[in-house]
Amino acid sequence: MPDHRQVLIAGSGPAGLTAAIYTARAQLQPVVVEGEPSSTGDQPGGQLMLTTEVENYPGFVEGIMGPDLMSAMRAQALRFGAELVTAKVTRVDLAASPFGVWTGPPDTPEPTYRADTLIVSTGARALMLGVPNEDRLVGHGVSTCATCDGFFFRDHHIAVVGGGDSAMEEAIFLTRFASKVTVVHRRDRLRASRIMQERAFAEPKIEFRWNAQVTAVHGHDKVAGVRLRDTLTGEESDLPVTGLFVAIGHEPNTGIVKGQLDIDGNGYIRTFGGTRTSVDGVFACGDVQDHVYRQAVTAAGSGCMAALDAERWLRDRG
Ligand code: NAP
Repeated sequence: MPDHRQVLIAGSGPAGLTAAIYTARAQLQPVVVEGEPSSTGDQPGGQLMLTTEVENYPGFVEGIMGPDLMSAMRAQALRFGAELVTAKVTRVDLAASPFGVWTGPPDTPEPTYRADTLIVSTGARALMLGVPNEDRLVGHGVSTCATCDGFFFRDHHIAVVGGGDSAMEEAIFLTRFASKVTVVHRRDRLRASRIMQERAFAEPKIEFRWNAQVTAVHGHDKVAGVRLRDTLTGEESDLPVTGLFVAIGHEPNTGIVKGQLDIDGNGYIRTFGGTRTSVDGVFACGDVQDHVYRQAVTAAGSGCMAALDAERWLRDRG
């Protein structure tokens, strides 16, 4: 017999846990299916679990470590009575309310939960290069967020990988701190919009390495350089950088709702007037519906909005 809940939250990053804090305080007894670590980068607590120091989350004068911030949010949700379940949502059925949510084998006829409202906060994952030492040095010179980590690279020589708008934005932002920024792109032409290209070309601290792929990251406890391969000649060389920003795109974690919720042109869940989605009673918040801001504080803000939207939805239906 499925466990019937008024609010089920899928995902436990800043968006999901903020939604949990708000709905728990509203006496809605939310259950948060927080995810399970996996080799493909799934991570209860979301992307902040993979970062070191967070200095731009308001309220922490001296900054806070990403995992510490998430564990505080988790404890706060528990304190108000949210139930956190370490499992992965494997399937949802949004055809009729209450919605079916499975956490075990997706082919079981009965769902694990029936939920009157579903808050999808499954986040996004930054695409990585998949080269040796990259994973191990995340938070120690390898980063996917210049806004978050740029400050730690004052007067460093940094490499940014990618040729899209994100890479140009990261590279331009990093010139505030870096002594030099080398954009490493695998082709001889950028994918970025013209305006971003022009801004990057006009920036004296940015130089470009065209037709180059990063094939390895050097360094034991922090980044000491990257290995490059020329995509035309195959020639190998080393670039002596102390920071590597990977900006080759993000992938929102929409697998469980694909085909059931409207998705926008960039692959993110489409939201309307706050956090409503194309299915009545389903709300989306955080990076799974935001490819623009992608900050912990904006995710938390939209988690609060989803909680209030779900609460009002339940109240309006008695
Ligand atoms: P993107 O447009 O998909 O660009 C990804 C870049 O990474 C491409 O240049 C691609 O190379 C490169 N790349 C992909 N896989 C790679 C790999 N394995 N190794 C090396 N390079 C690899 O992604 P994005 O820049 O994150 O942008 C996503 C969307 O958000 C876009 O629509 C973009 O316009 C938008 N956006 C807009 C702004 C803004 O307007 N300020 C800022 C950020 C993002 P190729 O070019 O060779 O494929």
